[in-house]
Amino acid sequence: MQFFAPTKVYLEKDCVRNHQKELLSFGTRALIVTGKHSSRANGSLQDVLSVLQAAEVPYMIYDDIEENPSVETVAAAAEEGKAFRADVVIGIGGGSPLDAAKAIALLIANPQEDADCLYKSKELTALPVIAVPTTCGTGSEVTPNAVLTRHAFKTKKSISYNIYPELALVDGKYLASASGHLLINTAVDALAHCVESRLHVKANVYNHMFSEYGLTLWKKIVPALTKIAEHPETAPSDLLTEEDFKTMMLASTVAGMAIAQTSTSLPHALSYEITYNHGVPHGKACGIFLAAYMEEYAKNRPEDTDRVLSLLGFDSTKDFGAFLAKILGPVRISEADLSLYADNVMANASKLATYPFAIDRDAIAAILRHSLEITA
Ligand code: NAP
Ligand code: FE
Repeated sequence: MQFFAPTKVYLEKDCVRNHQKELLSFGTRALIVTGKHSSRANGSLQDVLSVLQAAEVPYMIYDDIEENPSVETVAAAAEEGKAFRADVVIGIGGGSPLDAAKAIALLIANPQEDADCLYKSKELTALPVIAVPTTCGTGSEVTPNAVLTRHAFKTKKSISYNIYPELALVDGKYLASASGHLLINTAVDALAHCVESRLHVKANVYNHMFSEYGLTLWKKIVPALTKIAEHPETAPSDLLTEEDFKTMMLASTVAGMAIAQTSTSLPHALSYEITYNHGVPHGKACGIFLAAYMEEYAKNRPEDTDRVLSLLGFDSTKDFGAFLAKILGPVRISEADLSLYADNVMANASKLATYPFAIDRDAIAAILRHSLEITA
């Protein structure tokens, strides 16, 4: 049994400003990795820039990170980072910029390598990474994973290296400008992390502390998510309190600490097909499978799924599934897609190995069929 969680985390209002000395302690030339718009709108980019500017630290902003970032994007960003001679990478945004920051930090630190190295097993280390999350789902600020889109393989996959951020500066205030859909989708990603980690082949008493506490926190945000879903015309900041946003961020980091010990499992493997081929946002693409996945798991060890449901405050997987369907909305695929995705997941040996029991293609197809609307 082991436990490893090396990232230093601060979770508090104005934590970038409060911990600027530490933010400045990891390098002398900063590459900032972020998305096109949101970090400007929610103030996170300006918070970091204010610290760097006051300390006269040279920086460069790479703001071309797309959702579900591709290998090609991180390779292009790394070229700019090398030319700038960056020695620290600061990721600001949702999981996409944070994951991209990790892969970019690896490529900058290894200029002799090209992007093919991302999916090889070499002895490579990365530049230090600092993470400032602005969504409440991936937990990437505390996980070693970086999931990239591999267009060459028409799917998404974690790179082969464990890159934990040195420092995570987590502030719920950045969620105030997020849309209802983004909050629901990303919160459901955190839920998937807790459930998949709790039901994982590597689950142990250490990581139960995180997956189970994460589920307890998630129960607290169910009313907030219900309110958002029931008032789609109202801005979430008019419906939720500062405390709600803080709890959502906390649930996300705790869920990240859970998957950092185990990895994710089959709902994430299924989600990559749905996101790559149908553009469904990551959290929704995972959450849509959770209830059917738990029903399959319960055939072997129902006491585990009962535990998950009781921590979340649901009476049955049916009620849980109905709640998720209500806040997420449907996903439609064709019968031919179903067959292809079941084959693809059956070919994903490393993800199948995360499931504690034997599972066959019929069971995977049944999870797809029960979770999605299947068209002819
Ligand atoms: P995301 O792809 O990072 O961002 C989704 C959208 O939300 C973008 O349009 C972004 O805008 C916007 N956005 C971000 N923060 C916002 C805010 N505070 N207010 C308003 N809009 C905001 O979403 P994500 O769900 O956080 O990340 C998904 C990625 O993380 C996927 O690639 C997934 O595979 C990966 N992931 C990683 C791990 C891990 O352990 N590392 C775990 C689970 C998932 P901009 O583009 O303008 O910034
Ligand atoms: Fe996820």
